[in-house]
Amino acid sequence: MERKSSSSAPRSDPHGVLRRFFGFKEFRPHQRDIIQTLLEGRDVFALMPTGSGKSVCYQIPSVLRGGVGIVISPLIALMQDQVHGLRQNGLRADFLNSSLSAEEARAVIQRVSAGATDILYVAPERLATGGFQQLLKRIPIALFAIDEAHCVSQWGHDFRPEYLQIAAVTGAFAQVPRIALTATADAHTRRDILAKLNLGNAALFVSSFDRPNIAYRLRLKENGRQQLLHFIRDEHPGASGIVYVRTRRRADETAQWLRARGIDALAYHAGLTQQERLENQRRFLDSGKRVVVATIAFGMGIDKPDVRFVAHLDLPASIESYYQETGRAGRDGRPADAWMLYALADVVAMRKLQEASVGDEAFKRIQARKLDALLGFCETVECRRVALLRYFDERYPRPCMNCDNCLDSAETWDATLAAQKALSCVYRTGQRFGAAHLIEVLVGNPGERIRRRGHDRIKTFGAGKELSASQWRSVFRQLVSGGFLAVDLGEIAGFKLNEKSRSILKGELTVRFRKDPLRPAPRTPAGGTRDSRPPAPDAEPDRTLFEILREVRRAISLQSGLPPYCVFHDKTLKEMAAVAPVTREQLLAITGVGEKKLERFGEAFLEAVIRFRS
Ligand code: ZN
Repeated sequence: MERKSSSSAPRSDPHGVLRRFFGFKEFRPHQRDIIQTLLEGRDVFALMPTGSGKSVCYQIPSVLRGGVGIVISPLIALMQDQVHGLRQNGLRADFLNSSLSAEEARAVIQRVSAGATDILYVAPERLATGGFQQLLKRIPIALFAIDEAHCVSQWGHDFRPEYLQIAAVTGAFAQVPRIALTATADAHTRRDILAKLNLGNAALFVSSFDRPNIAYRLRLKENGRQQLLHFIRDEHPGASGIVYVRTRRRADETAQWLRARGIDALAYHAGLTQQERLENQRRFLDSGKRVVVATIAFGMGIDKPDVRFVAHLDLPASIESYYQETGRAGRDGRPADAWMLYALADVVAMRKLQEASVGDEAFKRIQARKLDALLGFCETVECRRVALLRYFDERYPRPCMNCDNCLDSAETWDATLAAQKALSCVYRTGQRFGAAHLIEVLVGNPGERIRRRGHDRIKTFGAGKELSASQWRSVFRQLVSGGFLAVDLGEIAGFKLNEKSRSILKGELTVRFRKDPLRPAPRTPAGGTRDSRPPAPDAEPDRTLFEILREVRRAISLQSGLPPYCVFHDKTLKEMAAVAPVTREQLLAITGVGEKKLERFGEAFLEAVIRFRS
């Protein structure tokens, strides 16, 4: 089919398209092979972490194969930006979702029918409609890309029922290759994705999940907000970051609390109107130094390169969520922090949630296993990176020296005797009290509540004087984390014994627990003593020139209404500030500068460099 193009660039080879439209010099791992496989008409399943260049894998073959590349994505709020970005690069892209008016949608369908679009983003709900399926029959299709493919699996962490129809709809086009992409999936979810999407014969590509520039740090929660405030003020003043909390109310309250203390914080959660959400998202994307306090709903597909930290004030839903949420940090490759607080109360709340969950037995078993994995990750003394990557079936060969356990050398202690005392105390008080009461009994605190119940006369009263209250909290936390103690679903959420607790009580099982630090470990100033962090990949940009180039970008951004990072990423400006290009050729050699952007913005940057050098 004869296709008109908005650019005169030849569309023969993938590398040429990569250079001309995306401004990258080289393919990243797997990109070229995935593109080749699709060009040959075969299906692909690609498991690639966020920020590793997933979208190029379907965008380039959409351009190179005849017809329209249909991209199915649940991220409606982001489609407009994605399409905008592609158009900036000179590609013909459109999107169809519920945010368009009927008139706008008709115009898109007209462009698609007329062969004036190469890439069409579509929400899964739209794909399932009869009207859209009629459209598909009328047009040549380059490929189907199923983004966020884990949404098809209910074992995954973000199940969307609409995704179950994708196999039937796309399967009607046997000659059209399909690519399913996801950034997180454990082995079980992977198998489920392949089955549900009918991708049994797909070529498999799995990239490394390691994000070497992210430092993983977990801390015990004492006074969560104060700890967060200190973390932001001391380590990331004026930087942009995301704080995850579990409930809408906590998101609102925490954002307000931070604002009252001079931090420019916004809330983002499903309780806001679509308009407020888009507005807050845009404010976050546009500014270099804002903090967003969000529930898990925030950030799918957010591509803001300079997020310096992701902080979890509450435990994430699973390791997949943790990996995906922390993965928003440091997309520019510069050092970033994944910082998380947790405490006994969080562990108890998570266990309670899991106990109360509904579903069939198999589903519950999977949920229980996921929670075990998450809590195990919290309590481990092993390198966090090794533990995290192992969850995704990846072997990291050595301690990373960029996580709290590597840097603070976490220790364990033989907690068998303490565990026996704690469990026996649970038993002797009738298996209905929570940690606060049990600890008072163990340390022998003859308070009124203890005396009233006669707990000052039982055998375990005062039997645990050798440990402090906070050490006992640590014991109870790790008993619950490790599944040695069950949480009652009643209102008080007391503890109950289970099979595993009995084997500790009988002496059949010994346990080693993590030694909690007596007080928070001393803080290391950012960039100061953290020698072990990988250096920024771009060496020695000229600070002054960099500031000048940022000014140029700001001016272009104001004039064009584009967010600054859509003009050029910081990474690109840094390289420019290091190289100081004075010709168009030199400028084109910089990562992130393609012909289209050279044409649009190149002159202003060249001028600034020449003025700076003369
Ligand atoms: Zn480590």
